[in-house]
Amino acid sequence: MAATGGDTAEVEQPVTAEPTAATAEAAVEAAVDTMATTAIAASTAVAPASLSPSRAGDFMQCPLLYRFRVIDRLPEKPSEAATRGTLVHAVLERLFDAPAAERTAPRAKSLIPGQWDRLRETRPEVVELFADDPDGERLARWLGEAERLVERWFTLEDPTRLEPAERELFIEARLDSGLKLRGIIDRVDVAPTGEVRIVDYKTGKAPRPEYAEGALFQMKFYALVVWRLKNVIPRRLQLVYLGSGDVLTYDPVLADLERVERKLHALWEAIREATESGDWRPRPTKLCGWCDHQAHCPEFGGTPPPYPLPVRAPESGDPAQGRMGPD
Ligand code: SF4
Repeated sequence: MAATGGDTAEVEQPVTAEPTAATAEAAVEAAVDTMATTAIAASTAVAPASLSPSRAGDFMQCPLLYRFRVIDRLPEKPSEAATRGTLVHAVLERLFDAPAAERTAPRAKSLIPGQWDRLRETRPEVVELFADDPDGERLARWLGEAERLVERWFTLEDPTRLEPAERELFIEARLDSGLKLRGIIDRVDVAPTGEVRIVDYKTGKAPRPEYAEGALFQMKFYALVVWRLKNVIPRRLQLVYLGSGDVLTYDPVLADLERVERKLHALWEAIREATESGDWRPRPTKLCGWCDHQAHCPEFGGTPPPYPLPVRAPESGDPAQGRMGPD
């Protein structure tokens, strides 16, 4: 599946058919996501200074969800789907440590147990996913599904012919307005001609064509950051959907990146206004089914935590973003 240039939609709404995989990006974003509540005082909210694709997506999906994640920093339980996504991403990244000829499906699958051990060490909370699985049957099925996702990748790309320039690349750029954009790119390929391809793995299924724009928002965000950092427009954006075996590509043009930049500024302003007013509207959709915060959401009879006031503006160099954050 491919989408090619010329999209004109001004409003891009990331749409997911299942919960977003908590990739390494999410973990790193969580580490750097410092909102007023932790950076300064527990009773103070800080207007956002930066955005990532995940947090921008949160705000577009539901402003109240953004608040719960960024300002209240309410805990969320690990999910099997998101954790499997993290595991598969780790395997695909580590496979490139091997010489090209050894990047085979059996080699990739052999990395799964070790990466699962590592994940349990670095994120002990994932252990609880299988706490009620004493005979290990559910864990075995889960690991089997991770194997199938890894195997499917070999039907979509040939890692023996790839030599990534970067893997799990953290990028950050400050726009002229002061807005800081950050994110983590799964893979960057650079052709001998210098053309750049940005690749992102998804362990879910490809969206229906009418939702492709939303899926590409994250990739255009990355392209914008690369353009601002290197003054180079990536030649191709590529989403690899391991869940359905699809590849979605898009070749951005300057107008795409300018459009995304305008959109992010509008989002940033909306987030700042909500931070100052405390008016974080719930926006119920079918994605509420994946939301961990129904108990605090008025749409489901819940009550949000007390809002941390007063609000202060971010200081220069404040790493707080209204941080953003997933994949
Ligand atoms: S349950 Fe739905 S409306 Fe409520 S915070 Fe979550 S995503 Fe928003």
